[in-house]
Amino acid sequence: MNLTTDRGLSAYGEPPQPRGAQLLNDPLLNKGSAFTDQERDALGLRGLLPPRVFTIEEQVQRSLGSLRRKPNAIEKYIFLTALQNRNETLFYRLVTDHVEEMVPLIYTPTVGQACLEYGSNFRRPRGLFISIKDRGHIAEILRHWPHEGARLIVVTDGERILGLGDLGALGMGIPVGKLSLYTACAGVHPYYTLPITLDVGTDNEKLHEDPFYIGLRQKRARGEEYDAFIAEFVAAVRSVFPKALLQWEDFGNTNAFRLLHDYRQKLCSFNDDIQGTAAVALAGLIAALRLTGGRLRDQKLLFLGAGEAGTGIADLFVAAAREEGLSEGEARSRCWFVDSKGLVVKDRGDRLAEHKLPYAHVHPIVPTLAEAVNALRPTALIGVSGTPATFTQEIVAEMARLNARPVIFALSNPTSKAECTAEQAYAWSDGRAIFASGSPFAPVELNGTRHVPGQGNNIYIFPGVGLGALVSESREVTDGMFLAAAQTLAQLVQPEDLAMGRVYPALTKIREVSLGIATAVAEAAYAQGLAARARPADVTGDIRGRMFDPKYPSYV
Ligand code: NAD
Repeated sequence: MNLTTDRGLSAYGEPPQPRGAQLLNDPLLNKGSAFTDQERDALGLRGLLPPRVFTIEEQVQRSLGSLRRKPNAIEKYIFLTALQNRNETLFYRLVTDHVEEMVPLIYTPTVGQACLEYGSNFRRPRGLFISIKDRGHIAEILRHWPHEGARLIVVTDGERILGLGDLGALGMGIPVGKLSLYTACAGVHPYYTLPITLDVGTDNEKLHEDPFYIGLRQKRARGEEYDAFIAEFVAAVRSVFPKALLQWEDFGNTNAFRLLHDYRQKLCSFNDDIQGTAAVALAGLIAALRLTGGRLRDQKLLFLGAGEAGTGIADLFVAAAREEGLSEGEARSRCWFVDSKGLVVKDRGDRLAEHKLPYAHVHPIVPTLAEAVNALRPTALIGVSGTPATFTQEIVAEMARLNARPVIFALSNPTSKAECTAEQAYAWSDGRAIFASGSPFAPVELNGTRHVPGQGNNIYIFPGVGLGALVSESREVTDGMFLAAAQTLAQLVQPEDLAMGRVYPALTKIREVSLGIATAVAEAAYAQGLAARARPADVTGDIRGRMFDPKYPSYV
């Protein structure tokens, strides 16, 4: 008997083979009531389970019933977390088979509330907490991780959790949730995923005062102390998990750009908030062209919010527009930003952060978004400010006056932070808006037409990018890979999606989408000499064969 090869794990490594109660307590191997009579006899399970043997389909139905009886989203999140901690195969089968119902529960918007309540709902640790007090011992702590050879790490320092701000150690819900999506949406085996929270303190005073806060109750470390901590962390990851791909997640923007820049070539890593968001938004813009009829190079984008997400999207748009023949300067001049101080322009009088400088064009001062829309006549309005109710009726109506099909993307998460709702976007534009949001909105009926909003969320991008980089064993995740991911995603939008006004594929297609993106990313790695593996003849088939499929193996 070999539990590992049966589970398809042998491609990666050989975990241990427990029996009896130890087997039931191992969520990666546990089948619960689905252990067969033969397995119960062979593995010392007889008597530890009630006699009736269930199929996984029956277990899914039973779990679904229990889940749906929970009174609210956070109770459902707690139920799903407990299931994940008990039986990962069943958890992923449930999530994969009911992806549209489950993703909003295990990710945005519910994960936002789950982070806020992480301390009070904390039952069993998942992932590693490494605090600034652990300096000098980080490699040792990484070696405490019970699985050998982590291949995929998502790490946060909790400073900018969704649009909710600094949640310190409570941010752990995000790496846990993102890694669940890697498995559910792209079939990365859960054994090789490792969520990490770096606790450097928090500037959220409420947490300092909370007697039950789970993290360090002190101000955030900054400057040299912070940089030295991160440098030690990166060195430790390289030495303990040399094959790992690392995703920087929900760092504050003063650190996010620097860390990406400083480490992307030293450690195979990317920043999802900057690069993943960029690719998903660009894919939406490319797909929208099939409804508006224009070319990408002729679009004018106006962003609300000039942070990681906004400037990331603009940078990737520039790369795509250059492929259509624009110079870098011309492409940049198609992107404009409004931040909390008004339109970002060259002589605004304040010291602009470095990431804004390429988009600080020569233009008179414009204090508000409404005036900026009026002055610039954009074709697309992209909300990445984390500030709700900022796409007002006046602004959306003006976009609809300027464009036959205005593109309105309210990408801020969670739902409570979206710049406008789907209903508002459609109602205020006479149903002409091409709308997408970061968190899901229900379809909207307006004057007899059903509008289905797209979910412009990086869930469409990062699982496939990560899978492609992992399987090809790429040394780096390049900007070109994100561009390829965006183009692939846009191609996968079907005519029937567009007919409903949706510029993203249905979430039910997510595993095929991730496979397509992983193929494009792996092909880029092979073509650019970044892959440590030789290119297999059938790249898609090779990746498909390595995707974790939540089915029980036979252990006897
Ligand atoms: P960030 O902190 O780097 O940037 C936020 C920017 O918004 C800053 O430039 C800030 O000045 C500006 N801003 C804040 N309030 C504003 C206001 N009232 N008017 C104008 N500008 C304002 O954060 P980020 O990483 O860029 O994320 C921003 C938002 O985008 C968050 O809500 C996040 O959840 C969302 N986001 C969504 C996705 C997705 O997949 N849909 C991905 C990443 C980020």
